[in-house]
Amino acid sequence: MTEITPLPLSQLTTLRTGAAPRRMVEARTRDELVAELRDVWATGEPWLVVGGGSNLLVGDEPFDGTVVVVRTGGLERLPSPRQGFARVRAEAGHGWDELVAFTVAEGLQGIEAMSGIPGTAGAAPVQNIGAYGQELIQTLVEVELLDHATGDVSVVPAAELELGFRTSVLKAHYGAVARRDAVILSITLELAEAGHGEIPVRGAQLRQSLGLDASSSASLAWLRDTVLATRARKGMVLDDADPDTYSAGSFFQNAIVTAAFARTLPAACPRWPVSVDLDPVTVIPLDVFDGIVPAPVAHEPDVKVSAAWLIEHAGLRKGFSLPRSRAGLSTKHALALTNRGGATAGELAELARFIRGRVQSEFGLMLQPEPVLVGVEI
Ligand SMILES: Cc1cc2nc3c(=O)[nH]c(=O)nc-3n(C[C@H](O)[C@H](O)[C@H](O)COP(=O)(O)OP(=O)(O)OC[C@H]3O[C@@H](n4cnc5c(N)ncnc54)[C@H](O)[C@@H]3O)c2cc1C
Repeated sequence: MTEITPLPLSQLTTLRTGAAPRRMVEARTRDELVAELRDVWATGEPWLVVGGGSNLLVGDEPFDGTVVVVRTGGLERLPSPRQGFARVRAEAGHGWDELVAFTVAEGLQGIEAMSGIPGTAGAAPVQNIGAYGQELIQTLVEVELLDHATGDVSVVPAAELELGFRTSVLKAHYGAVARRDAVILSITLELAEAGHGEIPVRGAQLRQSLGLDASSSASLAWLRDTVLATRARKGMVLDDADPDTYSAGSFFQNAIVTAAFARTLPAACPRWPVSVDLDPVTVIPLDVFDGIVPAPVAHEPDVKVSAAWLIEHAGLRKGFSLPRSRAGLSTKHALALTNRGGATAGELAELARFIRGRVQSEFGLMLQPEPVLVGVEI
């Protein structure tokens, strides 16, 4: 067990809040991580796993339990059973962006649009990270999980994690606990062997964000560099010198609403259909079947609406902050709540509540926070 002097969580989280917890252990190898978690679980005390701390808002009171800091690392290229594909396995504590850089250097396509997302590989499935139309669900094959309930390690196919829009069974959403209490030890991705030359740029959202047209091609390295530069302009790449990056990325999720509700929002509010729902198969028990199959019912797909637009059009511009508060909206991105220097979790929570209230009274819709909140309420 590598017990260390507890560091303030403000030093381990990108929102830079949180006192030192009661205990802190650090795992540098997978065996250490498994052993430490089993030891902590045996005590029955509260525990919290921290990777890169880039999706956590931690409260101001010391966490009364053990924080397990995941510092494991390692990448491995593996063969894939699919022709033209390769697999890459990453240990949980490996930096996500280092993993992306590795895959691009290997000429493997599938996660390059997610360049620059902070944090660890092991946390990536927790909220099914995504950017510019690429999401982890498209390439994740399986994870190695250590389950709290049994203390066992197992290889779990991605389908069992129920990855969705910034969610999975592993995510403790605000107001709810994770549906599966488990820690990821490694992740395995399956990526296309695209090489280093120019390839067609897949995905309308990516092309649109990078100013490309439908016939564009580019190398993986060019895509990665361009995504990194685009993200940096929005304060979405960590930079110690830029307080606009002292955030958890987008603090509020784009809202998913019914098509009927979306029609009540101003037409200018950007929106995207979530998915076209297939008509569920009608099952009629044989003993009541009278020979007539009911007509199919059309389902309107739900709609994802831009939380940034709603915030700005509720009158809260980039850079907004409450009087005397050290928390504020990023000057580059209306969705990022930032710590302008020394802000407490209380100040960030107060700003989040204010924004949520303004959007609710203006548009009748309650925004949901994206980061995991520990010891703090909004
Ligand atoms: C500037 C900035 C930009 C961002 N941009 C994006 C973006 O474009 N897209 C996006 O999806 N996200 C984005 N994020 C959010 C964040 O980077 C991701 O959610 C990331 O995956 C979090 O990784 P982490 O290691 O920092 O997790 P942490 O913040 O350390 O943890 C987050 C949650 O996951 C749990 N967890 C951590 N490791 C494990 C593990 N091994 N097993 C099980 N649970 C674990 C923690 O307990 C916690 O509940 C951004 C954040 C910042 C600061």
